[in-house]
Amino acid sequence: MKLFTTISEMQNYLLSQRAEGKSIGFVPTMGALHQGHLTLVNRSHTENDLTACSIFVNPIQFNNREDLEKYPRTLNSDAKLLEAHGCDVLFAPEAAEMYPENETPFLDIEFGMLDKVMEGKFRPGHFRGVAIVVKRLFDIVQPSRAYFGKKDFQQLAIINHMVKSLSIPVEIIPCDTVREPDGLAMSSRNMRLTITERNLAPKIYEILLNVKNSVGKIPVPELREWAIKKIEEDPALKVEYFEIGDKDSLMPIVHWNHKQQAMAFTAVLLGNVRLIDNVELFS
Ligand code: AMP
Repeated sequence: MKLFTTISEMQNYLLSQRAEGKSIGFVPTMGALHQGHLTLVNRSHTENDLTACSIFVNPIQFNNREDLEKYPRTLNSDAKLLEAHGCDVLFAPEAAEMYPENETPFLDIEFGMLDKVMEGKFRPGHFRGVAIVVKRLFDIVQPSRAYFGKKDFQQLAIINHMVKSLSIPVEIIPCDTVREPDGLAMSSRNMRLTITERNLAPKIYEILLNVKNSVGKIPVPELREWAIKKIEEDPALKVEYFEIGDKDSLMPIVHWNHKQQAMAFTAVLLGNVRLIDNVELFS
């Protein structure tokens, strides 16, 4: 596996590969890799001639300084895992490489309500930061396909919207959420949980599944209230939001409607670790 830290090295290498007619699959990450990320890498490896990954803890998508500073950084072990899972080239730039000092990162796109609800409401500026970095990475890598996890479902909606708005020639491949055996969605932030918090964390998915089982049986607002109460039964868990919304618009749903594909989304604070998860309610 090749490892590059500069944009020009990465571009030159991929230019030569593209000239050989190779399709490029791309998996952007922030590192601290787990099986969730590696599933995306495996899938890219089977669907493309070459798999490129990036590891970049993108400062402009963090609206909380502590979260940025505490974000785990494990480049050496990540590189080994990537190589073992079929990654051909890893791009791991420093922030100064991606954001030269004399330039203010900017992206001229409107996201409508997609970046105003849920994560967008609680993490102002987060999705614009995500879109800016992903656009930059797409410009550098110019992938045929790019792989994103449904665990970050709203992020996936933002990327799809950006690709459409800017007519970026890439196929976005959504990948199912990979979970621990007890149901907890894998996340790089899980390693920051204390043992007690880790034992409580599977409750989030458990309640999401309970909500799924109650679709059409309990009115939406009541079910939502019930879910929040149930998660917060243990004072260590604090719900930031719990929403039942439309799969495409992400807007809240008030009544069950067979024509609408509903999803449940939540963000929960466990101590100072913030976990998000979601489930499709229609399948
Ligand atoms: P991150 O490193 O958190 O920015 O994640 C990089 C990519 O991996 C994103 O597309 C995430 O949605 C995806 N991802 C993270 N955790 C999981 C998971 N548990 N299952 C599937 N995909 C995931």
